[in-house]
Amino acid sequence: MLTSTILFLNYYHRTTTDLIIFVVLFVLAVTYMAVTEIAIHRSPVDSVFYRYATRIGVLMDYTAFLAIISLTGGTNSPLYPIAYLVLLHASLYWSLVGAIVAIVMVSIGYIGVVLWVDGGFMQQEMPRHLFNFAFLIMIGVIGGIIVARERKHFVEKGIFENLAKKDYLTGLYNHRSFQEQIRETIVQKKHFCLVMGDIDYFKKINDQYGHQVGDAVLRAIGTLLNSVISANQGSAFRYGGEEFALILYTQDQQEAAEILRQFTDKLSMLEFGADIAKFPITMSFGATIRNKEQRTTELVAAADSLLYAAKEQGRNRLIWG
Ligand code: GH3
Ligand code: MG
Ligand code: MG
Repeated sequence: MLTSTILFLNYYHRTTTDLIIFVVLFVLAVTYMAVTEIAIHRSPVDSVFYRYATRIGVLMDYTAFLAIISLTGGTNSPLYPIAYLVLLHASLYWSLVGAIVAIVMVSIGYIGVVLWVDGGFMQQEMPRHLFNFAFLIMIGVIGGIIVARERKHFVEKGIFENLAKKDYLTGLYNHRSFQEQIRETIVQKKHFCLVMGDIDYFKKINDQYGHQVGDAVLRAIGTLLNSVISANQGSAFRYGGEEFALILYTQDQQEAAEILRQFTDKLSMLEFGADIAKFPITMSFGATIRNKEQRTTELVAAADSLLYAAKEQGRNRLIWG
């Protein structure tokens, strides 16, 4: 934008209309960029808004490209190579199909600029035009293939990273994520509660109703934990087997207990098993607040022994320490 402004003001500023068009274009471009930058940063990569905002951005680029070269000398404009950026931008968000559509669109735009701004196709300019078309096709297709392939790798990488962090059965973060996140939270010097939870008499459920039913219980608990604990409150993990760990970003015992109460209330409303043999599920919890310089192992040991105490005292309860 800086180069186009310098270029326009110094070399191509001829009529007042030109200047008005340029200023309008400039203001629109800055507003558009600011609004989309803010909005895109605030919305997740997989949201519908992100997809449309980035894709519409390609059309905006295209329009801006045609306007800018029209104002800075037509197809002879030193800013003409922006065409290649438009092609790469299109292939980034619309993949190879986008690149091909962009080649066609830029070519049509190019012909328009030759006719309306350059004053038509001149015999002596034909080699330049032909080479410009050839480069549009080459860069569009090659760039499109490379960008589409990289994009695919990028998406797959995200999927694999997510798979490595999550537990397949419950959909919760796995043990490894727990270790990583607790370490990270300690490094950031955040205060938090560590809660260890364990299903009561789970072995009996497996023995009585089978492992499939046991798995369904684990899955339901995973879904419930994810729905009760919002990302800013903390995270839930499958620590292992039928044990769960919660990292809650609060030092307030009441606040943490309230989150757990919401969870146990909802858990008590669930019924498992077949119609004839329905059974409820309860869990026991041990919770500790990290307010000193305890290490992960010390915290887990503390929460674990509190969980053990909860079991000893009759299960279906939360014990603090
Ligand atoms: P307590 O109230 O003392 O916790 O008793 P419990 O029966 O829940 O505890 P115990 O440690 O004796 O048994 C845990 C059971 O959890 C044993 C194991 O087969 C079962 N389990 C662990 N992981 C899974 C799983 O992924 N699926 C199923 N279905 N069962 C599992
Ligand atoms: Mg257990
Ligand atoms: Mg158990």
